[in-house]
Amino acid sequence: MKLGRYIIDTHVHAQRHAAGKKLKEVGTEETKKAGYQDLSHAMRNLTTYDNSERLLYDMKCYDVDMCILCSAFGMNNEINVQLVEKYPDKFRALCCAKGTADKARAGEIEWTIEAACAELDQLLSTGKFIGIGEGAPGNPLHMQTRKTLNQSERMDQLRKVMDVARKHKVPARVHTGSPGMYPIPYTYWPENWHPYWIHDLATEYPDVTIIFDHGGMQGGNQEDLVDQCVQVASNHDNVYLETGIYWTELYYKALTNPNVGPEKLIWGTDWGASQPVQTRIGTHPQTYVMQVRKDGIVTHQVDVMGWSLKQVARLNISQDDLNLILGGNAMRIYNIEFPLTRMFRKVGQ
Ligand SMILES: [Zn+2]
Repeated sequence: MKLGRYIIDTHVHAQRHAAGKKLKEVGTEETKKAGYQDLSHAMRNLTTYDNSERLLYDMKCYDVDMCILCSAFGMNNEINVQLVEKYPDKFRALCCAKGTADKARAGEIEWTIEAACAELDQLLSTGKFIGIGEGAPGNPLHMQTRKTLNQSERMDQLRKVMDVARKHKVPARVHTGSPGMYPIPYTYWPENWHPYWIHDLATEYPDVTIIFDHGGMQGGNQEDLVDQCVQVASNHDNVYLETGIYWTELYYKALTNPNVGPEKLIWGTDWGASQPVQTRIGTHPQTYVMQVRKDGIVTHQVDVMGWSLKQVARLNISQDDLNLILGGNAMRIYNIEFPLTRMFRKVGQ
């Protein structure tokens, strides 16, 4: 049985990396110069390919009506726009400042948040994108510059991203969480580890919708960032939690807070991120998403939609609440049209 009236996966990567060749080069002078020692660094230097055939298969398999396509980690805006144009009833796209990052990486310009935001502004002006993400732009050369941004410096960068979101009346995303396995640096997205910083942005920009990518759970089984994201969402009407790799009990953390509830949750799985789902029988949680370093890189298309929908299916809440989480909230936030009125519970005034 389909789990909701209209199901939108709000966090999807429809592009894949062909990483094998580049990874074989790790340790050579060329890769040292390019600044990468493993897949997490190599990804931004790779060409990506359209992976929509597999995505469309999973959407059909699990009755997912629409996906919001994100560009990140070397994925480009162009393939996502092509997919939106080819399948207008199935896809929408967010934009990322990849052009600025590529030019900085090639040594053609110095990366600045101003240049990245100008690119976002230009992309949003085309009308082909419905928001910014995933995450906010960061310096792609952080491995070489070795400059750790302090809170004040990064917050000023994020304010510039929020200005663009405000201008175009689109949601902005803030990335949270860690997948495990990859040696994730701190300074590319310092806010990743500090959801509480977002109290300031949410207060300064009450008219801009802010979505925590992953709602504090990008992977692993530590719940501290989820707790912090829930708390921030409970304080601000404009802050939402993306929940796709929450296990069932994490949904209840948000649902039992009367200032969060189903109205503030949007489902999004990070499909295409190729993070495996672990089964650890007898432990809690018994299944969760995590890269395990000794297992290496996953080579098959991880079935995260199936896993995530099973977590959602266990929620003992009304179908109308479920419909908000699975699609209704995303339609409201991203202005996605639905052919019938009054099919989703009214939220707000
Ligand atoms: Zn992602």
